[in-house]
Amino acid sequence: MFCPECGNTDLPMIEGICKDCFLEKFTILEIPEKIEVNTCAHCNANLREGKWEESNIPEEEIIYRALERSIKIDPLVEDEEIELEILQMRGTIAECYIDAKATILGEIIQQEFKAEVRLRKTVCPNCSKQNSGYYEAVIQFRADSRELTREELKQSNKIVNKTLKKLFDKDKLAYLVQIASLKEGNDYYIGSYKSAKKLVNVLREEFGGIIKESPRLISQDKSTGKGIYRIWISFRLPRFKKGDFIKYTDNKEKIGVVTAIDGKKVIAIDLNSSEKFSIYWKDYKSIEYLKDSSSAEKTVITSKSPSSIQILDPVDYNTVDLPMNDDFRSLNIGDEAKVVKIENRLYLLSK
Ligand SMILES: [Zn+2]
Ligand SMILES: [Zn+2]
Repeated sequence: MFCPECGNTDLPMIEGICKDCFLEKFTILEIPEKIEVNTCAHCNANLREGKWEESNIPEEEIIYRALERSIKIDPLVEDEEIELEILQMRGTIAECYIDAKATILGEIIQQEFKAEVRLRKTVCPNCSKQNSGYYEAVIQFRADSRELTREELKQSNKIVNKTLKKLFDKDKLAYLVQIASLKEGNDYYIGSYKSAKKLVNVLREEFGGIIKESPRLISQDKSTGKGIYRIWISFRLPRFKKGDFIKYTDNKEKIGVVTAIDGKKVIAIDLNSSEKFSIYWKDYKSIEYLKDSSSAEKTVITSKSPSSIQILDPVDYNTVDLPMNDDFRSLNIGDEAKVVKIENRLYLLSK
């Protein structure tokens, strides 16, 4: 056998030519001279095979990934080492250098390549939605039968901004279109329903309260005929706060003082038994607000026995005997204590 290219007869033949001629023509990899990547000018998302992918990755990383995707390595090579380098940026064009080292037919060869990556700046669909004020959900932040305090409003604004920032990494529609400040509370217009739902749960973790959703049909998708909905999520804080007095009725009526409020429940202490009880938000309807914490008044212990404790009614100064319990045993005659009058009965409050 002789090589049709160089006439050599001593070398092994590969694909019809001698090994030397083959290696001379061989390239480790192929890469187009010009590579185009559509990127979003706002969030750096890039278009890949018709789909917008990832955002907030640095421009350099977009360029390196585009190079990696465009390189086709010859299947005959082994132990390839490819190094990529951006030589310089000219505007949105990156001049790149590729250094390739590989083993082919037992020989180590090294080759250099050049390619240009062009970043075509456009606006991705998510950013164009945000720019146009698109939103899927509105969170209505309210309080039940009272106005929200300034502190509560400030706190919720802070949580909304912080949480959306976090959610934006995974959901590009996790943005706030606007806050409408109304007399009864704040309306938060949120890009995606998915993130609005997560956000309202974070708010509930902080404040406790009742969530209710009501979808509203906005329009019809002309191509599919399906309805397009926007979701109003009402989030209401309870009427009462920590320290307030409530009545809870399930199988038995309990008068209690609220000691804690969290995302799942209200915790209160029964003023008759001094025992703790919890009420889940789904049972909020069974709670009646009685009085706020400031209605507790100071009084004095006037007498004490193993079974009862006597106090002065702070309004008419009559003495009242109340049954003793473990919480009151440490009180002594002459001590100050707090009482609250509910439905004409006095309750002594434990410290
Ligand atoms: Zn040859
Ligand atoms: Zn974008």
